[in-house]
Amino acid sequence: METIKVKAFGTNSSNDELAEMVINRRKVQAHDVEMEILYCGICHSDLHQIKNDFGATLFPIVPGHEILGRVTAIGEHVSKFSIGDLVGVGCIVDSCRHCESCEEGVEQFCEEGVTFSFNSVDKVSGGHTFGGFSNTYVCDEKYVLRMPEFDNLASAAPLLCAGITVYSPLMHWQAGPGKKVGVLGIGGLGHLAIKIAKAMGAEVTVFTTSPSKIEDAIRLGADHAVLSNDNEVMSNYTRQLHFIIDTVSAKHDVNTYLNLLRHDGTVVLVGLPPEALEIGAFNVVSGRKSFAGSNIGGIKETQEMLDFCYKHNIVADSEIINIQDVNTAFERLEKGDVKYRFVIDMASLKN
Ligand code: NAP
Ligand code: ZN
Ligand code: ZN
Repeated sequence: METIKVKAFGTNSSNDELAEMVINRRKVQAHDVEMEILYCGICHSDLHQIKNDFGATLFPIVPGHEILGRVTAIGEHVSKFSIGDLVGVGCIVDSCRHCESCEEGVEQFCEEGVTFSFNSVDKVSGGHTFGGFSNTYVCDEKYVLRMPEFDNLASAAPLLCAGITVYSPLMHWQAGPGKKVGVLGIGGLGHLAIKIAKAMGAEVTVFTTSPSKIEDAIRLGADHAVLSNDNEVMSNYTRQLHFIIDTVSAKHDVNTYLNLLRHDGTVVLVGLPPEALEIGAFNVVSGRKSFAGSNIGGIKETQEMLDFCYKHNIVADSEIINIQDVNTAFERLEKGDVKYRFVIDMASLKN
């Protein structure tokens, strides 16, 4: 397959820093869209994969799956997009298209295995996929999102992973008026969960380990913000919440949060702590509680989420950086020192 050479930022091992490299992408095929990448968000999943936290990283790795760009070329059968359109690519760039999950529009659960935008076996070109820390992306138009004209485009990029990852379970568990929703962890996902759950009409309580985020949580729209090591305040929330979205990236005690659910309530895990979590029997049997998970969202729902966020004026609170500062950004993300998403201005990779 004919390829083009693209500048990127990646690494050959989890011990090395990210540095400039050249990768090959396929030349535009009949159903493909090629885009110039304008902005790319940095998700904690990029960090997990660089560190090989799940033992499945394909090196060399080029991270980045909150990719916002402008169309520069289209294949002859492309019908949804034209050159110049503002577009997005999130986590999913291919799937089988005919299994039950694909038919239902939950491509993230494709029975033949979804192709992710980075660190996935590439069934079209061979090798593996490279993410958005680069100047150009190429993929099938079916997996490309139409980006509304957000005033702050850079800060809209994180919606493509963080946004859909919290929107999908909030919709599934019906956050809305009359519902008391908990958000656990105020990072990239958590701060968007506050904004989106509020826009849906829910009453939002935030649980954080960071005293500095308490005031901020209220500014972001939360009705209540609780320091999770304050046992006295925590006890006020026992059996109060309908559901809790857990965005924590490291091992933590989920039983504490199961205890905050009303009967039939659910803790939904979206965070990906590499270690297994333990659940006490009585924390779920009393109150018929559920501990569930959720993984990003399908393409149709991602488009719905983008349009919802545009309508409600929701973007991430972001810190825009140049690609040359990406290693420092990952160090800061690891320490929880970001309010609340790094976004790379990809123009910095051009020169
Ligand atoms: P992030 O910006 O680093 O936020 C994670 C937050 O978790 C931190 O800000 C911190 O919040 C809290 N936290 C971190 N370590 C903790 C610990 N040891 N104990 C308690 N709380 C802790 O990360 P993110 O980008 O939002 O991603 C969050 C997680 O979701 C990651 O594991 C990521 O891989 C995963 N993820 C999953 C999906 C999916 O589809 N399921 C999609 C995207 C990301 P406080 O300071 O408020 O305590
Ligand atoms: Zn992500
Ligand atoms: Zn499928």
